Amino acid sequence: MGVIRQTKSVKALLDEFQEGSGAISAIDLIKRLDKKLNKTTVYRVLDKLEDDGILHSFLGKNGIKWYAKCNGCSKTEHIDFHPHFECLICGRVDCLLIEISIPKIPNRKVEASQILIQGKCEACHNSIV
Ligand SMILES: [Zn+2]
Ligand SMILES: [Zn+2]
Repeated sequence: MGVIRQTKSVKALLDEFQEGSGAISAIDLIKRLDKKLNKTTVYRVLDKLEDDGILHSFLGKNGIKWYAKCNGCSKTEHIDFHPHFECLICGRVDCLLIEISIPKIPNRKVEASQILIQGKCEACHNSIV
């Protein structure tokens, strides 16, 4: 029965990630799923989904953790290496589906890299203030 509950919470959580390449912060997820799942469960499911290569996480402004759907990652291989964009006006965060190559750094082995680009998103950039 534990399995069924787990599946339900996984589904509830993944339902939040239906639209496009948008990311959701852990804080928002907890708020949105408030009625269905408790905080501990949300964190546990997020960890699991990240392990399984379904979601990836990164840090945004103020050290807030964000989650977004992976594209073609698997349990063993996290191949998703892309920058993220945070809008400083509306706070929207999404994955930028562009490739960035990490330069070779002498005497260092790069295992992870986080690139967060901040600015105005398309909607905010286009709206005339
Ligand atoms: Zn915006
Ligand atoms: Zn991403």
